[in-house]
Amino acid sequence: MELNDAKLKQAVDFHGHLCPGLMIGFKAGQVALEELGVARSADEELVAIVETDACSIDAIQTLTGCTAGKGNFLIKNYGKQAFTVGNRNNGQAIRVALKYGALDFEENVDKEVRVKELYNKPAEDIFTVEKLDIELPPKAAIRDSVQCANCSEPVMETKARLKEGEVLCISCFKEGS
Ligand SMILES: [Zn+2]
Ligand SMILES: [Zn+2]
Repeated sequence: MELNDAKLKQAVDFHGHLCPGLMIGFKAGQVALEELGVARSADEELVAIVETDACSIDAIQTLTGCTAGKGNFLIKNYGKQAFTVGNRNNGQAIRVALKYGALDFEENVDKEVRVKELYNKPAEDIFTVEKLDIELPPKAAIRDSVQCANCSEPVMETKARLKEGEVLCISCFKEGS
């Protein structure tokens, strides 16, 4: 399949291959951004909550700019191809979920054909889309670090543990228990 769609190419580069799962995330992410009327998130103004840990979520990350590292990408693995994207600036959120049976293909159709079919299929044939009224998770806080009394490495204050008056990181705390 020719990749003359720059955003799709970006998703494929990040994920490593082009598969039906990635295409589902790509289409779902596009729908969510369109419905919200926003572009990719440079900072933390968008937040994504995904209900699977499969291929699709890599496309959601590259498309929406919500990433695990920025703290505005939350995985609630319920085993569902469902993706919520919210806009912190106005509180709007859109949930895009795969319709039951939307991935029924004829048997023995190879992967490339499926990907192409998905790409060309109208999004409304694949997903249900709903506006959500939810409390969006707060922005990631910047926390101070403290020094572990055992390994001497810095550890985020909120993750440190206290044991017999000593501040320990979780790995040292577990080792000693
Ligand atoms: Zn994949
Ligand atoms: Zn330690």
